[in-house]
Order: sequence, then structure tokens, then C-alpha cells
Amino acid sequence: MTITDPTTATDTPLDRARAALRRDLLADGVLIDLGSPGLYGRTGVFERVSSAVDTAGVRSMADLDTAVVRFPPVEPLAAFERTDYIASFPDLAASISGFTGDDRKHRELLAARERGERWEDFLDPADLMLTPAVCHPLYGLLTGTVPQQGRTFDIFGDSFRREPSLDPMRLQAFHMHEFVHVGTPASAQAHRDGRVPAIRDLLTSFGLEIDVVPANDPFFGRVGRMLARNQVEQALKFEFVTPVYGDAGDPTAIGSANLHEDHFGTSFDIRTEDGEVAHSACVAWGLERVTIALFAAHGTDPASWPADVRRALDL
Ligand code: AMP
Ligand code: ZN
Repeated sequence: MTITDPTTATDTPLDRARAALRRDLLADGVLIDLGSPGLYGRTGVFERVSSAVDTAGVRSMADLDTAVVRFPPVEPLAAFERTDYIASFPDLAASISGFTGDDRKHRELLAARERGERWEDFLDPADLMLTPAVCHPLYGLLTGTVPQQGRTFDIFGDSFRREPSLDPMRLQAFHMHEFVHVGTPASAQAHRDGRVPAIRDLLTSFGLEIDVVPANDPFFGRVGRMLARNQVEQALKFEFVTPVYGDAGDPTAIGSANLHEDHFGTSFDIRTEDGEVAHSACVAWGLERVTIALFAAHGTDPASWPADVRRALDL
């Protein structure tokens, strides 16, 4: 992957639009550049807006009977393994490693470091993966039987995807809020389809122009292209997209609504009371993407935003 310097990325109107938004967010003190593409610190104004977004989002799901669960930003390799993520998205996956050597190996590491060489090779895989989607650690907890009417979970947390980019809408580390249902094929479909209007209304109330479009995940490689086609044909994924860069590029997904069919039910051996393999579905919004879409649409000073937008966000 080529990383272009944002100050010289003037190839296309889209590159220029991305560079301009990134420059504004940094210059206005909304984001802090951490020196690695897609990795930012966030300041007070960013946190105030993203908390307001999340609070409004949770309110829009208040009619659901949910169990709240929170997970760390890393998950055990064994759980990650069962999601099959590495088969579909090897390029986005990232693992944790740690030092397990002795004094001699430590001296070798220090010598390599002294020579200005990279020293990460001296670390060993720690059987931990960075969580790419906050619903993943849930399924392992549900192995066994869920009630026939299914169960619904509210999960917020950190996601990591190894997709370095200078597009401020494409981060490596970000936060996602998901409402996940595990139940029958019908209850999973009803959850996914039933939440779409609420999320569309929510995002529209923020003064964002929203379309709900059929979408696919970025499955890797040649086989992946087939999987992506199937996903669209079977209408398994919809995205809430907004034109952050106007006419310069395609609208960006700030939320999604997904049907997994029996994927996780089979992998994690989850069944409903009738003995059938459970189906699952999740709807999600990305906190950074919604927040940055708001800054792009209304500017970085919430005090100057339209009154109805501030009201919708209670800002
Ligand atoms: P997905 O599981 O890909 O549908 O992602 C759910 C939501 O997370 C998306 O709708 C985005 O809001 C957010 N998201 C996904 N990838 C990224 C990324 N690289 N940077 C920031 N937000 C992301
Ligand atoms: Zn999910």
C-alpha cells in the first residue's frame, strides 16, 4: 500500500478532499496526529460530540430489551480463530506479540536496536488478536442454547483494522457501537431490518444526508470477490452512507446493518431451543465516522451548528 503525504496528495479531487478534511480536523484541534496513518488522539470537542452521538444512538435503541456487555480491545486467539476472520480478511487482522526470551535474547534485541534495526522479530505471538468487530467476543459466550425468541446485546468498544490510510474516515483504531441479536432466522432478520429506519432517522436528525445501500465487506483476494458478490446478491449487508466528500468520491459508510445467517451459530455451536442452529444479525455505527461526518457537514465548532442538529444531539 502506498501512503501519500497529505500535503502533496493532489492526484484526484478525492485525494484533495480527504487531505483538506484531515488538515482542517488537525488544524482546528479536533484530532491529534500520532504520526502513523489512521491513528489519532482526540480532543475535548471530539469527545463531546462523539459522546452525544452515542447517547442519542443508544436512546434510539431504547425499545430493545438488551443485555449490556463490554470487552477489552483484544480477544483470545481461540475465539478469533472461530470467527474465521483470518480466512476472509487476512489483510485487516492484527495480532499482539510479547517478549518471552531470556537475558541472552534480550541482549540480542538491544544490540539490534542499537544498530538501528527493527527489534519486533524478537517478540513472540501472544495468542491475542486485536478485535476487528466488537461483536466477535460475544459468540463464544453463547455456545449452547439461546431462548427461542433470541437475545439482544448492546456492545460498545474498540476495533482495530490494519488499513492505514490518510483518509480521516478510515482509521486503524476506532470505536463501534453494535446492537447484536442471536436467535432464529426470522428474529435475526427482523432485528436487522427493524433497526434500519431508527438508525436512518437518527443520522438524518444530525443533519446528515443519508442513503441506505446494499454493501459488501472487503473480503480478501479472488475468492473474496465471489463472497462479496454473494453478500450483495443475498442482501446480507446494508450500509448507511453519507457524502462526506461531496461529488469528489463515493459516499462513506458510517453505519451498517448485517445478517450473518448461521455463520457464528455454526462456528460457536449456538442453537435455539428447537435445536436449530442460531442465526445472528448486528447493526452498528462507527463513533469516529459519524463524528467526523458531523464536523465535515457542519464545521468543527458545535456552537455554530444548526439549532435542530444541536437539539437532536442535546449539545
Ligand atoms: P463494518 O463491520 O465494516 O460494517 O463496520 C461497522 C462500522 O464501523 C462502519 O459502518 C463504520 O462506521 C465503522 N468503521 C469500519 N471501518 C472503519 C475504519 N477503518 N475507520 C473508522 N471507522 C470504521
Ligand atoms: Zn457485529
